[in-house]
Amino acid sequence: MKSKLLALSCIFTLLFSMISTHQIVFANKFIETDTVTMTNPLTGESGAYTPVNLMMGGEDVITDVPGILYTSGTSTRTLVPISFIVERMGADIEWKQATREITINTTNKEIVLQIDNPYAYVNGKKTKLPDGIAPILLLFNGNNKTFVPVKFISDQLGLDVNWIGDTRTVAINKPVQTLTNVYLDYMSQFPEIRLKVTGDVDANSFVISGSDVGEQDKIVVDLENTKFDLQDTSMVKNGVGTYKVGDGIFGIDRVEISQNSPNPPTTRITVFLDEKRGHDVYYDEASHEMVIRLINTVNEVTHEKIYGTDTIVIDTSEKPNYNINLVGDQIFVDVFNSYLKIDEGMSTIVPVNQGKIEAYGYSQLDTSHYGANDVYTSRDVITRVAVNLTESITYDEVYIEDDGTQIKVFVSENPLNNFDYVRLNDAKSNMSIRLFESASFNKTYDAASRMITLTLSSDVTDLNKFEFGVDDNIIESFDIIDKGSQYVVKIKLAEDTTYVDNSTTDQIVFAFTNRAILDSEYSNTLIVIDTGHGGHDSGATGTLAKEKDIALKASLELERQLKQLGFKVYMTRDDDTYVELYDRADIANDLNADLFVSIHINAHTNSEASGVEVLHASQSTSGGMGLADDIQNYLVKDLNAIDRGIVYRPNLVVLRETKMPSVLAELGFISNASDQSKLMTPSYIEKAAGAIVKGIKAYLK
Ligand SMILES: [Zn+2]
Repeated sequence: MKSKLLALSCIFTLLFSMISTHQIVFANKFIETDTVTMTNPLTGESGAYTPVNLMMGGEDVITDVPGILYTSGTSTRTLVPISFIVERMGADIEWKQATREITINTTNKEIVLQIDNPYAYVNGKKTKLPDGIAPILLLFNGNNKTFVPVKFISDQLGLDVNWIGDTRTVAINKPVQTLTNVYLDYMSQFPEIRLKVTGDVDANSFVISGSDVGEQDKIVVDLENTKFDLQDTSMVKNGVGTYKVGDGIFGIDRVEISQNSPNPPTTRITVFLDEKRGHDVYYDEASHEMVIRLINTVNEVTHEKIYGTDTIVIDTSEKPNYNINLVGDQIFVDVFNSYLKIDEGMSTIVPVNQGKIEAYGYSQLDTSHYGANDVYTSRDVITRVAVNLTESITYDEVYIEDDGTQIKVFVSENPLNNFDYVRLNDAKSNMSIRLFESASFNKTYDAASRMITLTLSSDVTDLNKFEFGVDDNIIESFDIIDKGSQYVVKIKLAEDTTYVDNSTTDQIVFAFTNRAILDSEYSNTLIVIDTGHGGHDSGATGTLAKEKDIALKASLELERQLKQLGFKVYMTRDDDTYVELYDRADIANDLNADLFVSIHINAHTNSEASGVEVLHASQSTSGGMGLADDIQNYLVKDLNAIDRGIVYRPNLVVLRETKMPSVLAELGFISNASDQSKLMTPSYIEKAAGAIVKGIKAYLK
């Protein structure tokens, strides 16, 4: 069996080396590379092509084959894989092998193109392609791919194409429109910010949770290929339009309208919030208005073990209103005034099979047919989370905790019982145990192991036994042991945490402070960690792991270590979602971050390639290059990795668009067996994060 596998992989290696040498051809890695080598199967000629970023309606387009710059004579044109046209432009494609003809059909057009033919037929009319650059076939990753000129086809389909040279990006948009008015409609079911536009445009929105790092929360909506020319000119000052809401109505402070980019023109709507609010954006065809509706959203539902208890965690955008119902062996959590954002609202069932939880699911409740006798009206917008249990339970056996924007459904009685733990900020927290009667307890503290041990009689309180790794840089873990007549509570403090015993007659209270975080010289230094890829963009794929997953683990570990030193940290993503490249940079710029560190894993067709490298877009030693240098030095040393050096990549979107020193660290090769297995161990990830921290500290000195 083993020899067979080996033989197979030899064939693959041979194939790869025939197609291209030393080039990354792994899906979705193009933005991190300067050239991609492909071979024309008809001529046998191979060439190194510059990959381009593709954007459509303000969204990054992730394809398994990159768009490329293709030069013929003195002309250069962008060619894109035909799959891009099919998947993103909604056209029908037909391929005739004998004549190598491509027919693109839309409702009112038939475009016929032919490989290597500089002429096309549009509704039967012969038309010369721009610069005479014809569609070509290129062998990529072992498959023949058809590349077609993107500008020509976009023009034919009535779409605008803009070239953003700085970041080698092709942006395709609906025709340009103008924003003329903005107002708040507070009479509708949900408050709506309505933006009058001359026609349909694409909108791309993201959230800046500024309050997490002491700034203001914002919803940012970009109207793609849109200019603004407000009728009410009194709103405009210094090129920025302001619509004041004020006094915390609906949690909105004000709405600002600004020109975000001239090419293509993007109008940015920034909603400044007084509290966290959810939102969705849609186009109201009847009134020609883009609408930002303030409505809660359910963003993630997960199964977690919290306080040793199987828990379903529902993550929302704003403080949720909800209702819990128990029906037989099912728990229903209805989140009011919310729409389901996960997978664009698709109903989903996730198997769990742990403890009493068989599975959980979520869906948008269809209330359209609801009448007078129903609990909800047809106007209610409700996300329902259902938890399927192995047996029927009573209300006493479910415990709900809502914490900011989360609902936690514990499938047990209150797992904390009389125990409580509350984090006050990054450096301080409190633990308490309620007592029935005034009672004495025994306390020991072992400085070497940073362990507080409390012993108290089981007559004076009720506790549940659990082990819980808190790992919040204040407390490492709690462990409650039930010894029958006694409870033993073990509290393991994080490094640099001190405690004060504030116990009274009816409760045990400990106040914890991490002195290092509290007194940190970095408490005003904000670092944005940019976790590469995510969601539908896996990044490079290894035999056992995906880049996006390893990058997330490394980023979360980096966050933990930086916070331990008292840094302020903001993550562009901390779960498996995709964030647009320009948005990642915009978030860091908006927060006025001090440093920007993007975390990625490398890949290469040559599976021998191994080691670490750090990319930068600024050649200043006090800027990105200096930071890259410092981080690279520690990565090489601490990981004992091959030094691939720092790499100047001026066109990378996230590095080029960020205004602060920024770097992109490639922590190893997922395409190399040894690197991949290391990248999958927590100890390597911990060391890699530690090395980046050392690099950051060295740079800040
Ligand atoms: Zn990457």
